[in-house]
Amino acid sequence: MRDFPTSFFLSSALALGMTLTGSALAEIDMTTQSQPWTDGDLTGLSVCWEHPGYSEEKAWVASVIEREYAAKAHLFFIGWSDCAETPDARIRLGIFDFPTHTKGMGRAIDGMHSGITLNFTFSNWNRQCQMNRRACIEGLAVHEFGHAAGLPDALIPYQGDEGSCVGKSIAHLSALSFFLDDRSIMNDCNNDWHAAALDEVDVAALVRLYP
Ligand SMILES: [Zn+2]
Repeated sequence: MRDFPTSFFLSSALALGMTLTGSALAEIDMTTQSQPWTDGDLTGLSVCWEHPGYSEEKAWVASVIEREYAAKAHLFFIGWSDCAETPDARIRLGIFDFPTHTKGMGRAIDGMHSGITLNFTFSNWNRQCQMNRRACIEGLAVHEFGHAAGLPDALIPYQGDEGSCVGKSIAHLSALSFFLDDRSIMNDCNNDWHAAALDEVDVAALVRLYP
């Protein structure tokens, strides 16, 4: 949804243990940005990997996404093979040592090159994650797949100090009739993001998008 990586803030701020303060609500209109997949897509959204290697890390991602999205929200991401073998896959995953990010919400990334970018090495970005790679990879993946499913970031963008959770507010996503709070995996200042778990507010939002 942004040209600038969406989760830059997540890992840099959260790894430092910063907390969200001052969560005053504000209204923003997300209707033009979130594009839920249509019914026909939901029996299984095919996912592929654009880059070879990293079989263990790829298995972590596929496993945590199944655990969270299939089990809790009945959203099924399937396939997980090389994009060369499945060029028609809907969601293409790139692996770069950049801030993790997703290039749009929901079907806005349909077939898009590196629609989701994940980071498995953390050599340049978010180096704290080298100590805790699996939790970082899983937590970031659950956040980015939230965007792929159509969820926005829970924080109001560009508010407060860049790189800090101080002064950030939760966005009240009234136009989509759901609400994400500070427990959401879509909240970049959620101190529990390493748990890589969809909160009930995330599941409720997904149910709203996919009734
Ligand atoms: Zn995000």
